[in-house]
Formats: sequence, C-alpha cells, structure tokens
Amino acid sequence: MGVRPQARAGEDMEYATRPLSCEEAVKQFFAYLDRALSGERMEALEAHFDACLDCCERLEFSRKVDAFVKDRLGDAPLPDGMEERIRRLIR
Ligand SMILES: [Zn+2]
Repeated sequence: MGVRPQARAGEDMEYATRPLSCEEAVKQFFAYLDRALSGERMEALEAHFDACLDCCERLEFSRKVDAFVKDRLGDAPLPDGMEERIRRLIR
C-alpha cells in the first residue's frame, strides 16, 4: 500500500529492492560493520549510502564508535543499553 516513489531517470533499480528509509538503514549499521549483511540487504544499504549523505556521516561515526568499543571490549558483546545509546546518538 502507499505510493511508490518514482524511479529517478537513469536508474533502473526499481525492480530490485525498495529504498531504505534512514531509520531502517541506521538499524543495520552495526550488522553492516560486522559484515553480517549480505546479498540484497547489503546492496540496499550501500545504495542508501550512495544516495544519502546524512547516513554516510552517521556510518562514519558508527564506524568510529564500533572500532572504539571493539578496542575496549575485544570480542565481548556490547553492554546492555550501549547499542541503544549509540543509536540514539546517530539519529
Ligand atoms: Zn539516510
């Protein structure tokens, strides 16, 4: 339901995956940084980065946070609430 956005001229990707919203993209940042995404989900996310400067900047920030956290914690999982706090920061 709802109206599909028109495909922009020169793009013929409309049959592939529908565009992600920024919120959907942000939710997948950490999976992306962990290389846990593949196939269409990863392509959809990368397509979003191509089109969305905001999310490029958010991703850079997330990458730094991710590196920082892994540096501190090694392979330990994120403490409870940590991921949520980071997500709020990058909103
Ligand atoms: Zn975005």
